Amino acid sequence: GRDYSNATTTNDSNDSDRLLGGLLATGFDEATCLSRYQSSLYRKPSPYKPSPYLLSKLRSYETLHKRCGPGTEPYKKALTQLDQDHIDNNGECKYVVWVSFSGLGNRILSLASVFLYALLTDRVLLVDRGKDMEDLFCEPFPDMSWLLPLDFPLMSQFDGLNQDSSRCYGHMLKNHVVDNDKTLSHLYLHLVHDYGDHDKMFFCQGDQTFIGKVPWLVVKTDNYFVPSLWLIPGFDEELDKMFPQKETVFHHLGRYLFHPTNQVWGLVTRYYEAYLSQADEKIGIQVRVFDVGAGPFQHVMDQISSCTRKEKLLPEVDTVIERSRRVTTPKKHKAVLVTSLNSGYSENLKSMYWEYPTLTGEVIGVHQPSQEGYQQTEKKMHNGKALAEMYLLSMTDSLVTSAWSTFGYVAQGLGGLKPWILYKPENRTAPDPACGRAMSMEPCFHAPPFYDCKAKTGVDTGKLVPHVRHCEDMSWGLKLG
Ligand code: GDP
Repeated sequence: GRDYSNATTTNDSNDSDRLLGGLLATGFDEATCLSRYQSSLYRKPSPYKPSPYLLSKLRSYETLHKRCGPGTEPYKKALTQLDQDHIDNNGECKYVVWVSFSGLGNRILSLASVFLYALLTDRVLLVDRGKDMEDLFCEPFPDMSWLLPLDFPLMSQFDGLNQDSSRCYGHMLKNHVVDNDKTLSHLYLHLVHDYGDHDKMFFCQGDQTFIGKVPWLVVKTDNYFVPSLWLIPGFDEELDKMFPQKETVFHHLGRYLFHPTNQVWGLVTRYYEAYLSQADEKIGIQVRVFDVGAGPFQHVMDQISSCTRKEKLLPEVDTVIERSRRVTTPKKHKAVLVTSLNSGYSENLKSMYWEYPTLTGEVIGVHQPSQEGYQQTEKKMHNGKALAEMYLLSMTDSLVTSAWSTFGYVAQGLGGLKPWILYKPENRTAPDPACGRAMSMEPCFHAPPFYDCKAKTGVDTGKLVPHVRHCEDMSWGLKLG
Protein backbone atom coordinates (compact mmCIF):
# COMPACT_ATOMS: atom_id res chain seq x y z
CA GLY A 1 0.00 0.00 0.00
CA ARG A 2 0.98 3.62 -0.38
CA ASP A 3 1.78 5.92 2.46
CA TYR A 4 -0.78 8.67 2.13
CA SER A 5 0.56 10.58 5.12
CA ASN A 6 3.70 11.34 3.20
CA ALA A 7 2.13 14.06 1.08
CA THR A 8 4.51 16.75 2.16
CA THR A 9 7.85 15.20 1.14
CA THR A 10 9.83 17.43 -1.16
CA ASN A 11 12.51 15.62 -3.07
CA ASP A 12 12.78 16.47 -6.76
CA SER A 13 11.04 13.62 -8.54
CA ASN A 14 8.27 13.61 -5.95
CA ASP A 15 7.95 17.31 -6.49
CA SER A 16 7.35 16.95 -10.18
CA ASP A 17 4.63 14.35 -9.47
CA ARG A 18 3.16 16.43 -6.71
CA LEU A 19 3.00 19.51 -8.91
CA LEU A 20 1.65 17.44 -11.83
CA GLY A 21 4.63 18.06 -14.09
CA GLY A 22 4.82 21.74 -13.16
CA LEU A 23 1.14 22.42 -13.74
CA LEU A 24 0.58 23.52 -10.15
CA ALA A 25 2.25 26.54 -8.63
CA THR A 26 4.23 26.08 -5.43
CA GLY A 27 3.70 28.04 -2.26
CA PHE A 28 0.06 27.37 -1.44
CA ASP A 29 -0.84 26.63 2.14
CA GLU A 30 -1.24 22.86 2.05
CA ALA A 31 -3.60 22.41 4.99
CA THR A 32 -6.36 24.62 3.63
CA CYS A 33 -6.60 22.51 0.48
CA LEU A 34 -5.20 19.02 0.98
CA SER A 35 -6.30 17.74 -2.41
CA ARG A 36 -4.06 20.15 -4.31
CA TYR A 37 -0.79 18.41 -3.50
CA GLN A 38 -2.19 15.02 -2.45
CA SER A 39 -4.06 14.05 -5.59
CA SER A 40 -0.87 12.67 -7.17
CA LEU A 41 -0.67 10.05 -4.41
CA TYR A 42 -3.92 8.49 -5.53
CA ARG A 43 -3.23 8.29 -9.23
CA LYS A 44 -0.58 6.90 -11.51
CA PRO A 45 1.56 9.72 -12.92
CA SER A 46 -0.06 11.07 -16.06
CA PRO A 47 1.58 9.92 -19.31
CA TYR A 48 0.69 13.35 -20.71
CA LYS A 49 3.13 16.11 -19.82
CA PRO A 50 2.07 19.75 -20.01
CA SER A 51 4.11 21.75 -22.54
CA PRO A 52 6.65 24.32 -21.30
CA TYR A 53 4.61 26.93 -23.18
CA LEU A 54 1.43 26.05 -21.30
CA LEU A 55 3.34 26.26 -18.03
CA SER A 56 4.66 29.71 -18.89
CA LYS A 57 1.15 30.85 -19.88
CA LEU A 58 -0.21 29.64 -16.54
CA ARG A 59 2.54 31.37 -14.57
CA SER A 60 1.96 34.67 -16.38
CA TYR A 61 -1.79 34.27 -15.95
CA GLU A 62 -1.23 33.90 -12.21
CA THR A 63 0.74 37.15 -12.20
CA LEU A 64 -2.00 38.92 -14.13
CA HIS A 65 -4.67 37.53 -11.83
CA LYS A 66 -2.81 38.76 -8.78
CA ARG A 67 -2.29 42.21 -10.28
CA CYS A 68 -5.92 42.67 -11.44
CA GLY A 69 -7.91 40.54 -9.02
CA PRO A 70 -10.71 41.66 -6.68
CA GLY A 71 -9.76 44.56 -4.43
CA THR A 72 -6.76 45.74 -6.46
CA GLU A 73 -6.53 49.27 -7.88
CA PRO A 74 -6.98 48.11 -11.49
CA TYR A 75 -10.08 46.16 -10.41
CA LYS A 76 -11.59 49.21 -8.72
CA LYS A 77 -10.81 51.30 -11.76
CA ALA A 78 -12.39 48.77 -14.09
CA LEU A 79 -15.51 48.72 -11.93
CA THR A 80 -16.01 52.45 -12.48
CA GLN A 81 -16.22 51.74 -16.22
CA LEU A 82 -19.44 49.86 -15.56
CA ASP A 83 -21.14 53.17 -14.76
CA GLN A 84 -20.81 54.22 -18.38
CA ASP A 85 -22.35 52.67 -21.50
CA HIS A 86 -19.23 53.20 -23.54
CA ILE A 87 -15.68 53.66 -22.38
CA ASP A 88 -13.27 56.33 -23.68
CA ASN A 89 -9.93 54.77 -22.82
CA ASN A 90 -8.67 51.34 -22.13
CA GLY A 91 -8.11 50.32 -18.53
CA GLU A 92 -5.24 48.18 -17.41
CA CYS A 93 -7.16 44.94 -16.93
CA LYS A 94 -10.01 43.17 -18.68
CA TYR A 95 -12.29 40.57 -17.16
CA VAL A 96 -14.47 37.62 -18.04
CA VAL A 97 -17.09 36.64 -15.50
CA TRP A 98 -18.28 33.04 -15.49
CA VAL A 99 -21.88 32.75 -14.30
CA SER A 100 -22.69 29.62 -12.27
CA PHE A 101 -25.24 27.68 -14.27
CA SER A 102 -26.44 24.08 -14.80
CA GLY A 103 -25.37 20.68 -13.39
CA LEU A 104 -21.95 20.17 -11.84
CA GLY A 105 -20.38 18.33 -14.77
CA ASN A 106 -21.55 21.05 -17.15
CA ARG A 107 -20.22 23.73 -14.82
CA ILE A 108 -16.77 22.17 -14.58
CA LEU A 109 -16.49 21.90 -18.36
CA SER A 110 -17.82 25.37 -19.07
CA LEU A 111 -15.56 26.94 -16.45
CA ALA A 112 -12.51 25.26 -17.98
CA SER A 113 -13.59 26.59 -21.39
CA VAL A 114 -14.00 30.14 -20.11
CA PHE A 115 -10.61 29.92 -18.39
CA LEU A 116 -8.97 28.88 -21.65
CA TYR A 117 -10.72 31.81 -23.35
CA ALA A 118 -9.28 34.08 -20.63
CA LEU A 119 -5.79 32.69 -21.30
CA LEU A 120 -6.18 33.32 -25.02
CA THR A 121 -7.45 36.87 -24.61
CA ASP A 122 -5.42 38.06 -21.60
CA ARG A 123 -8.47 38.44 -19.43
CA VAL A 124 -8.90 37.82 -15.74
CA LEU A 125 -11.38 35.06 -14.91
CA LEU A 126 -13.80 35.75 -12.09
CA VAL A 127 -16.15 33.08 -10.82
CA ASP A 128 -19.72 33.65 -9.72
CA ARG A 129 -19.94 31.46 -6.62
CA GLY A 130 -23.59 30.52 -7.18
CA LYS A 131 -24.99 28.24 -4.48
CA ASP A 132 -22.00 26.05 -3.83
CA MET A 133 -18.86 26.73 -5.90
CA GLU A 134 -17.05 27.86 -2.75
CA ASP A 135 -17.97 24.70 -0.86
CA LEU A 136 -16.78 22.48 -3.68
CA PHE A 137 -13.55 23.96 -4.97
CA CYS A 138 -10.37 25.44 -3.52
CA GLU A 139 -8.84 28.60 -4.91
CA PRO A 140 -6.71 27.64 -7.92
CA PHE A 141 -4.56 30.79 -8.25
CA PRO A 142 -1.90 31.84 -5.72
CA ASP A 143 -2.43 34.86 -3.46
CA MET A 144 -5.63 36.12 -5.09
CA SER A 145 -9.19 34.84 -5.12
CA TRP A 146 -10.97 33.79 -8.29
CA LEU A 147 -14.37 34.45 -6.71
CA LEU A 148 -16.37 37.39 -7.96
CA PRO A 149 -16.96 39.76 -5.01
CA LEU A 150 -20.52 39.64 -3.72
CA ASP A 151 -20.95 43.37 -4.25
CA PHE A 152 -20.25 43.14 -7.99
CA PRO A 153 -22.75 45.61 -9.51
CA LEU A 154 -24.22 43.30 -12.18
CA MET A 155 -24.60 40.31 -9.87
CA SER A 156 -28.33 40.75 -9.25
CA GLN A 157 -28.94 40.50 -13.00
CA PHE A 158 -27.20 37.13 -13.51
CA ASP A 159 -30.25 34.91 -13.05
CA GLY A 160 -32.24 36.89 -15.58
CA LEU A 161 -29.58 37.01 -18.30
CA ASN A 162 -30.81 35.37 -21.48
CA GLN A 163 -30.84 35.63 -25.27
CA ASP A 164 -33.05 38.71 -25.15
CA SER A 165 -31.05 40.72 -22.63
CA SER A 166 -30.24 44.16 -23.99
CA ARG A 167 -26.49 43.68 -23.54
CA CYS A 168 -26.53 40.16 -25.00
CA TYR A 169 -24.11 40.19 -27.95
CA GLY A 170 -26.33 38.01 -30.14
CA HIS A 171 -29.34 40.14 -29.35
CA MET A 172 -27.45 43.30 -30.26
CA LEU A 173 -26.27 41.82 -33.54
CA LYS A 174 -29.76 40.68 -34.41
CA ASN A 175 -31.08 44.16 -33.78
CA HIS A 176 -28.23 45.91 -35.61
CA VAL A 177 -27.20 47.97 -32.61
CA VAL A 178 -23.54 46.99 -32.57
CA ASP A 179 -21.49 50.10 -33.22
CA ASN A 180 -17.96 49.16 -34.21
CA ASP A 181 -16.64 52.66 -33.52
CA LYS A 182 -17.49 52.62 -29.87
CA THR A 183 -16.36 50.31 -27.08
CA LEU A 184 -19.02 49.01 -24.73
CA SER A 185 -18.25 48.77 -21.04
CA HIS A 186 -19.76 45.33 -20.78
CA LEU A 187 -21.30 42.58 -22.85
CA TYR A 188 -23.26 39.46 -22.04
CA LEU A 189 -22.31 36.35 -24.00
CA HIS A 190 -25.09 33.78 -24.20
CA LEU A 191 -23.40 30.46 -24.99
CA VAL A 192 -26.04 28.18 -23.49
CA HIS A 193 -27.07 25.09 -25.54
CA ASP A 194 -30.29 26.84 -26.68
CA TYR A 195 -28.39 29.77 -28.23
CA GLY A 196 -29.14 31.18 -31.67
CA ASP A 197 -27.20 31.92 -34.83
CA HIS A 198 -26.37 35.45 -33.71
CA ASP A 199 -25.00 34.27 -30.37
CA LYS A 200 -22.87 31.77 -32.26
CA MET A 201 -21.08 34.63 -34.03
CA PHE A 202 -18.94 34.62 -30.88
CA PHE A 203 -16.93 31.94 -32.68
CA CYS A 204 -15.98 34.23 -35.58
CA GLN A 205 -12.67 36.06 -35.69
CA GLY A 206 -14.18 39.39 -36.73
CA ASP A 207 -16.59 39.35 -33.83
CA GLN A 208 -13.75 38.46 -31.49
CA THR A 209 -12.01 41.69 -32.51
CA PHE A 210 -15.04 43.69 -31.36
CA ILE A 211 -15.63 41.60 -28.22
CA GLY A 212 -11.91 41.75 -27.39
CA LYS A 213 -12.05 45.48 -26.60
CA VAL A 214 -14.85 45.25 -24.04
CA PRO A 215 -13.45 45.35 -20.49
CA TRP A 216 -16.21 43.30 -18.87
CA LEU A 217 -17.60 40.12 -20.39
CA VAL A 218 -20.25 38.13 -18.57
CA VAL A 219 -20.66 34.57 -19.88
CA LYS A 220 -23.40 32.04 -19.29
CA THR A 221 -22.73 28.63 -20.77
CA ASP A 222 -23.27 24.96 -20.01
CA ASN A 223 -20.95 23.70 -22.72
CA TYR A 224 -17.38 22.64 -23.35
CA PHE A 225 -16.80 25.02 -26.25
CA VAL A 226 -13.04 24.49 -26.56
CA PRO A 227 -13.17 22.55 -29.89
CA SER A 228 -14.70 25.56 -31.64
CA LEU A 229 -12.09 27.96 -30.21
CA TRP A 230 -9.61 25.90 -32.21
CA LEU A 231 -11.41 26.87 -35.41
CA ILE A 232 -10.93 30.60 -34.83
CA PRO A 233 -7.94 31.99 -36.75
CA GLY A 234 -5.83 33.92 -34.29
CA PHE A 235 -6.48 31.42 -31.52
CA ASP A 236 -5.41 28.26 -33.33
CA GLU A 237 -1.67 28.94 -33.35
CA GLU A 238 -1.60 29.82 -29.69
CA LEU A 239 -3.59 26.69 -28.87
CA ASP A 240 -1.21 24.53 -30.90
CA LYS A 241 1.67 25.91 -28.87
CA MET A 242 -0.05 25.43 -25.53
CA PHE A 243 -1.34 21.97 -26.37
CA PRO A 244 0.93 20.13 -28.82
CA GLN A 245 -1.04 17.05 -27.72
CA LYS A 246 -4.44 18.40 -28.67
CA GLU A 247 -6.46 15.84 -26.77
CA THR A 248 -5.02 16.97 -23.44
CA VAL A 249 -6.76 20.34 -23.01
CA PHE A 250 -9.27 19.39 -20.35
CA HIS A 251 -6.88 16.89 -18.80
CA HIS A 252 -4.39 19.65 -17.99
CA LEU A 253 -6.76 22.55 -17.36
CA GLY A 254 -9.04 20.39 -15.23
CA ARG A 255 -6.16 19.21 -13.06
CA TYR A 256 -4.90 22.76 -12.81
CA LEU A 257 -8.20 24.36 -11.82
CA PHE A 258 -10.34 21.92 -9.89
CA HIS A 259 -9.16 20.98 -6.43
CA PRO A 260 -11.88 19.64 -4.16
CA THR A 261 -12.19 21.35 -0.78
CA ASN A 262 -11.12 19.43 2.31
CA GLN A 263 -14.70 18.34 3.00
CA VAL A 264 -15.10 16.84 -0.46
CA TRP A 265 -11.56 15.46 -0.38
CA GLY A 266 -12.51 13.62 2.80
CA LEU A 267 -15.32 11.93 0.88
CA VAL A 268 -12.87 10.95 -1.83
CA THR A 269 -10.02 9.65 0.30
CA ARG A 270 -12.09 7.79 2.90
CA TYR A 271 -13.96 5.98 0.18
CA TYR A 272 -10.82 5.23 -1.79
CA GLU A 273 -8.99 3.83 1.19
CA ALA A 274 -11.94 1.76 2.39
CA TYR A 275 -13.00 0.19 -0.90
CA LEU A 276 -10.51 0.73 -3.71
CA SER A 277 -6.91 1.01 -2.58
CA GLN A 278 -6.40 -2.71 -1.89
CA ALA A 279 -7.63 -3.91 -5.27
CA ASP A 280 -5.25 -5.13 -7.97
CA GLU A 281 -7.35 -3.39 -10.56
CA LYS A 282 -10.05 -0.73 -10.42
CA ILE A 283 -12.88 -0.47 -12.92
CA GLY A 284 -15.20 2.55 -12.99
CA ILE A 285 -18.71 2.33 -14.40
CA GLN A 286 -20.61 5.60 -14.65
CA VAL A 287 -24.29 5.04 -15.31
CA ARG A 288 -26.30 8.08 -16.36
CA VAL A 289 -29.76 7.36 -17.73
CA PHE A 290 -31.55 10.16 -19.55
CA ASP A 291 -34.81 8.18 -20.05
CA VAL A 292 -37.79 9.40 -18.06
CA GLY A 293 -39.17 7.17 -15.32
CA ALA A 294 -37.61 5.49 -12.33
CA GLY A 295 -34.91 2.92 -13.07
CA PRO A 296 -33.28 0.54 -12.93
CA PHE A 297 -34.00 -0.47 -16.50
CA GLN A 298 -33.36 -3.97 -17.78
CA HIS A 299 -32.02 -2.69 -21.10
CA VAL A 300 -29.38 -0.60 -19.31
CA MET A 301 -28.39 -3.58 -17.16
CA ASP A 302 -28.08 -5.71 -20.30
CA GLN A 303 -25.99 -3.03 -21.93
CA ILE A 304 -23.57 -2.83 -19.00
CA SER A 305 -23.12 -6.63 -18.93
CA SER A 306 -22.72 -6.86 -22.67
CA CYS A 307 -20.13 -4.08 -22.77
CA THR A 308 -18.02 -5.23 -19.82
CA ARG A 309 -18.08 -8.84 -21.05
CA LYS A 310 -17.25 -8.09 -24.67
CA GLU A 311 -14.50 -5.64 -23.82
CA LYS A 312 -13.16 -8.05 -21.19
CA LEU A 313 -13.37 -5.47 -18.43
CA LEU A 314 -15.18 -7.85 -16.08
CA PRO A 315 -15.12 -11.65 -16.02
CA GLU A 316 -18.08 -13.88 -16.80
CA VAL A 317 -19.60 -16.02 -14.09
CA ASP A 318 -19.88 -19.80 -13.98
CA THR A 319 -23.53 -20.67 -13.47
CA VAL A 320 -22.87 -24.42 -13.21
CA ILE A 321 -22.69 -24.56 -9.45
CA GLU A 322 -20.96 -27.99 -9.12
CA ARG A 323 -17.81 -26.66 -10.65
CA SER A 324 -17.65 -23.72 -8.30
CA ARG A 325 -15.56 -25.40 -5.62
CA ARG A 326 -12.56 -25.42 -7.94
CA VAL A 327 -9.69 -23.70 -6.14
CA THR A 328 -7.67 -21.13 -8.03
CA THR A 329 -4.74 -19.27 -6.54
CA PRO A 330 -3.61 -16.59 -6.30
CA LYS A 331 -6.76 -14.59 -6.68
CA LYS A 332 -6.78 -11.26 -8.39
CA HIS A 333 -9.03 -8.70 -6.77
CA LYS A 334 -10.94 -6.31 -8.99
CA ALA A 335 -12.87 -3.43 -7.47
CA VAL A 336 -15.78 -2.09 -9.48
CA LEU A 337 -16.84 1.46 -8.69
CA VAL A 338 -20.35 2.15 -9.93
CA THR A 339 -21.77 5.66 -9.86
CA SER A 340 -25.41 6.24 -10.60
CA LEU A 341 -28.41 8.06 -9.22
CA ASN A 342 -30.02 4.62 -9.01
CA SER A 343 -28.78 1.75 -6.85
CA GLY A 344 -30.18 -1.04 -9.04
CA TYR A 345 -27.29 -1.47 -11.45
CA SER A 346 -24.63 -2.04 -8.84
CA GLU A 347 -26.94 -4.24 -6.72
CA ASN A 348 -27.49 -6.43 -9.73
CA LEU A 349 -23.75 -6.77 -10.44
CA LYS A 350 -23.00 -7.34 -6.79
CA SER A 351 -25.56 -10.18 -6.51
CA MET A 352 -24.26 -11.80 -9.65
CA TYR A 353 -20.69 -11.92 -8.34
CA TRP A 354 -21.90 -13.14 -4.95
CA GLU A 355 -24.18 -15.85 -6.28
CA TYR A 356 -21.77 -17.27 -8.86
CA PRO A 357 -18.01 -17.73 -9.13
CA THR A 358 -16.12 -16.01 -11.93
CA LEU A 359 -14.72 -18.15 -14.72
CA THR A 360 -11.31 -16.59 -14.22
CA GLY A 361 -11.25 -17.03 -10.47
CA GLU A 362 -10.99 -13.29 -10.00
CA VAL A 363 -12.64 -11.80 -6.96
CA ILE A 364 -15.00 -8.97 -7.80
CA GLY A 365 -16.07 -6.33 -5.29
CA VAL A 366 -18.80 -3.95 -6.36
CA HIS A 367 -19.17 -0.57 -4.67
CA GLN A 368 -21.42 2.42 -5.14
CA PRO A 369 -20.82 5.47 -2.95
CA SER A 370 -24.21 7.20 -3.17
CA GLN A 371 -27.71 6.61 -4.47
CA GLU A 372 -29.25 10.04 -4.55
CA GLY A 373 -32.32 8.98 -6.53
CA TYR A 374 -32.66 12.09 -8.65
CA GLN A 375 -30.74 15.21 -9.59
CA GLN A 376 -30.81 17.80 -6.79
CA THR A 377 -28.54 20.48 -8.14
CA GLU A 378 -29.33 23.00 -5.40
CA LYS A 379 -28.53 20.73 -2.47
CA LYS A 380 -25.06 21.17 -0.96
CA MET A 381 -23.81 17.71 -0.03
CA HIS A 382 -25.48 16.35 -3.15
CA ASN A 383 -22.98 18.13 -5.36
CA GLY A 384 -20.15 17.40 -2.93
CA LYS A 385 -20.91 13.72 -3.40
CA ALA A 386 -21.21 14.16 -7.15
CA LEU A 387 -17.77 15.80 -7.27
CA ALA A 388 -16.27 13.12 -5.03
CA GLU A 389 -17.68 10.45 -7.34
CA MET A 390 -16.31 12.09 -10.48
CA TYR A 391 -12.94 12.21 -8.73
CA LEU A 392 -13.12 8.58 -7.60
CA LEU A 393 -14.00 7.47 -11.13
CA SER A 394 -10.94 9.36 -12.35
CA MET A 395 -8.75 7.24 -10.07
CA THR A 396 -9.71 3.95 -11.71
CA ASP A 397 -7.65 2.01 -14.26
CA SER A 398 -10.42 1.47 -16.80
CA LEU A 399 -13.54 3.54 -17.18
CA VAL A 400 -16.95 2.92 -18.71
CA THR A 401 -19.06 6.06 -19.16
CA SER A 402 -22.53 6.92 -20.39
CA ALA A 403 -23.10 8.73 -23.69
CA TRP A 404 -24.00 12.42 -23.46
CA SER A 405 -22.96 12.78 -19.84
CA THR A 406 -20.68 15.63 -18.80
CA PHE A 407 -20.31 13.87 -15.43
CA GLY A 408 -18.44 11.10 -17.25
CA TYR A 409 -16.42 13.57 -19.36
CA VAL A 410 -15.05 15.19 -16.22
CA ALA A 411 -14.00 11.82 -14.77
CA GLN A 412 -12.29 10.66 -17.96
CA GLY A 413 -10.49 13.98 -18.44
CA LEU A 414 -9.19 14.28 -14.90
CA GLY A 415 -8.10 10.65 -14.97
CA GLY A 416 -6.45 10.82 -18.38
CA LEU A 417 -8.60 7.85 -19.36
CA LYS A 418 -9.96 6.95 -22.77
CA PRO A 419 -13.32 5.52 -21.74
CA TRP A 420 -15.59 2.88 -23.19
CA ILE A 421 -18.76 4.78 -23.93
CA LEU A 422 -22.12 3.09 -23.38
CA TYR A 423 -23.96 4.32 -26.47
CA LYS A 424 -27.29 5.99 -25.93
CA PRO A 425 -30.18 3.50 -25.89
CA GLU A 426 -33.08 4.26 -28.27
CA ASN A 427 -36.65 3.18 -27.51
CA ARG A 428 -35.56 1.46 -24.34
CA THR A 429 -33.39 -1.02 -26.18
CA ALA A 430 -29.72 -1.69 -25.58
CA PRO A 431 -27.74 -0.66 -28.67
CA ASP A 432 -25.51 -3.11 -30.51
CA PRO A 433 -22.59 -2.78 -30.00
CA ALA A 434 -23.31 -1.79 -26.42
CA CYS A 435 -20.23 0.39 -26.16
CA GLY A 436 -17.15 1.57 -28.00
CA ARG A 437 -13.76 2.97 -27.07
CA ALA A 438 -13.48 6.75 -27.25
CA MET A 439 -10.84 8.15 -29.63
CA SER A 440 -9.69 10.62 -27.00
CA MET A 441 -10.29 11.58 -23.39
CA GLU A 442 -11.56 15.04 -24.37
CA PRO A 443 -15.13 16.11 -23.56
CA CYS A 444 -17.64 16.59 -26.37
CA PHE A 445 -18.97 20.06 -27.27
CA HIS A 446 -22.70 19.34 -27.46
CA ALA A 447 -23.90 22.47 -29.25
CA PRO A 448 -21.24 23.65 -31.70
CA PRO A 449 -21.84 26.25 -34.41
CA PHE A 450 -21.98 25.07 -38.02
CA TYR A 451 -20.99 28.26 -39.75
CA ASP A 452 -18.17 29.33 -42.00
CA CYS A 453 -17.45 32.87 -40.85
CA LYS A 454 -15.49 33.81 -43.98
CA ALA A 455 -17.82 32.32 -46.60
CA LYS A 456 -20.87 33.30 -44.50
CA THR A 457 -22.54 29.96 -45.11
CA GLY A 458 -23.25 26.81 -43.20
CA VAL A 459 -20.44 24.26 -43.02
CA ASP A 460 -19.75 20.99 -41.25
CA THR A 461 -17.28 22.23 -38.65
CA GLY A 462 -16.41 18.61 -37.81
CA LYS A 463 -14.77 18.24 -41.23
CA LEU A 464 -12.52 21.31 -41.43
CA VAL A 465 -9.38 20.13 -39.64
CA PRO A 466 -8.26 16.62 -38.64
CA HIS A 467 -8.12 17.28 -34.90
CA VAL A 468 -11.66 18.68 -34.50
CA ARG A 469 -14.06 15.83 -35.18
CA HIS A 470 -17.55 14.65 -34.44
CA CYS A 471 -18.06 12.88 -31.14
CA GLU A 472 -18.56 9.15 -30.71
CA ASP A 473 -21.62 9.63 -28.52
CA MET A 474 -23.33 12.57 -30.25
CA SER A 475 -23.10 12.80 -34.02
CA TRP A 476 -23.44 16.61 -34.21
CA GLY A 477 -21.06 17.30 -31.32
CA LEU A 478 -17.41 18.26 -31.74
CA LYS A 479 -14.38 17.01 -29.89
CA LEU A 480 -10.61 17.22 -30.05
CA GLY A 481 -8.87 14.01 -30.87
P1 GDP B 1 -24.86 15.32 -16.95
O1 GDP B 1 -26.26 15.78 -16.79
O2 GDP B 1 -24.70 13.83 -16.89
O3 GDP B 1 -24.20 15.91 -18.15
O4 GDP B 1 -23.98 15.80 -15.68
P2 GDP B 1 -24.12 17.03 -14.70
O5 GDP B 1 -23.10 16.79 -13.63
O6 GDP B 1 -24.01 18.32 -15.41
O7 GDP B 1 -25.56 16.97 -14.08
C1 GDP B 1 -26.03 15.83 -13.48
C2 GDP B 1 -26.19 16.02 -11.98
O8 GDP B 1 -27.01 14.96 -11.48
C3 GDP B 1 -24.89 15.95 -11.23
O9 GDP B 1 -24.26 17.18 -11.07
C4 GDP B 1 -25.33 15.36 -9.91
O10 GDP B 1 -25.89 16.39 -9.13
C5 GDP B 1 -26.42 14.40 -10.33
N1 GDP B 1 -25.88 13.08 -10.69
C6 GDP B 1 -25.95 12.45 -11.88
N2 GDP B 1 -25.35 11.25 -11.82
C7 GDP B 1 -24.87 11.12 -10.57
C8 GDP B 1 -24.12 10.10 -9.87
O11 GDP B 1 -23.75 9.07 -10.41
N3 GDP B 1 -23.81 10.35 -8.58
C9 GDP B 1 -24.17 11.51 -7.95
N4 GDP B 1 -23.80 11.68 -6.68
N5 GDP B 1 -24.87 12.48 -8.56
C10 GDP B 1 -25.21 12.30 -9.85
